[in-house]
Amino acid sequence: MSLSKLLESWPAVRQLREGDPLGLGRAVQSPRSRTLVPRIDEAEHVVQSVCPFCAVGCGQLVYVSDGAITHIEGDPASPISRGRLCPKGQASKSYADSPLREYKVKYRRPYGTSWEELSLGDAMEMIADRIIRTRADSWEWKTEDGNPANRTMAIGNLGGATLDNEENYLIKKLMTALGVVQVENQARI
Ligand code: SF4
Repeated sequence: MSLSKLLESWPAVRQLREGDPLGLGRAVQSPRSRTLVPRIDEAEHVVQSVCPFCAVGCGQLVYVSDGAITHIEGDPASPISRGRLCPKGQASKSYADSPLREYKVKYRRPYGTSWEELSLGDAMEMIADRIIRTRADSWEWKTEDGNPANRTMAIGNLGGATLDNEENYLIKKLMTALGVVQVENQARI
């Protein structure tokens, strides 16, 4: 290697020669890093969205190419999150295209040792049958003191973090109509 090339390969020389004494710019780039481009560069367009994972509702920028999501990052324009996403929000591209994503209902029978696939219709019928039977078997017209109760204490509902306001409203309406009093949500705020 010639002396000039040897000196060129020395970052301190490049920093001084290129007016980059703190080594924050081109002076510290290698031939490899000079060719790197941000992965968002390949996107055809960017869609503003909201992270669906929890009730904080952080703003997202979704980069799309050929109809597929290529990257998701925080939206600096969001007054809620100002460009930030927690690890779940950062990983939310996987909700759309992870190879581990399940598209079928999985059911494990009592005492079963493996999962079976059910159609959504069969699963909904099974859930409805069990709710109706449990409600009928456990219905309480009155409290122990003789006051009106009209409730079941054998059914509870625990909501997920991804439920939005409208879904929670409908779930609460349904549970109240069924006489279910143990209703909880996993909202973060
Ligand atoms: S899961 Fe994280 S990124 Fe998504 S809305 Fe909640 S706090 Fe924000």
